Amino acid sequence: MIALVGIGANLGDAGANVADALARLETQPGCRLVASSSLWRTAPIDSSGDDYINAVALVDTTLEAHALLASLQAIETAHGRERPYRNAPRTLDLDLLLYGDQVIDTPGLSVPHPRMHERAFVLAPLLELAPDIAIPGRGRAADFLAGVADQAIVRLG
Ligand code: ADP
Ligand code: MG
Repeated sequence: MIALVGIGANLGDAGANVADALARLETQPGCRLVASSSLWRTAPIDSSGDDYINAVALVDTTLEAHALLASLQAIETAHGRERPYRNAPRTLDLDLLLYGDQVIDTPGLSVPHPRMHERAFVLAPLLELAPDIAIPGRGRAADFLAGVADQAIVRLG
């Protein structure tokens, strides 16, 4: 299954944390990193603290969606992720954006990620990897870019 994973960090050396998350995705059992976007810098949205560094990874996985989420959370935990309050600054956040074209709605996992189409820091890196991709139930990801044009985001390369 092809999965798209959103990665973000705004505590510590955020760029290094995102780079390490990409490296760990490669070595996670049942996962192969197929491609990764550029790193992007964005101002916090619904959150606080320093600017975020964001990226999106395209992963080929044999893991079922919930198992993949557990694997992503293990990478967060390895980086000392704490959740003192909702939307707190974070050393590392990995979100399962898309899992093939599946729609999943369970208490611990919603796919497509429910807010991905509202976030420039998801859409811009996602569209680098998959310009024609559709968000199941919503439509083409590219069609949501205009709606997030007010969100400041810079491609770092
Ligand atoms: P944020 O929404 O800021 O990424 P967290 O990373 O703390 O917040 O995630 C909160 C909860 O969201 C997790 O415990 C997880 O079970 C749930 N969740 C639901 N759907 C997803 C998804 N697609 N990707 C990641 N987490 C998800
Ligand atoms: Mg998360």
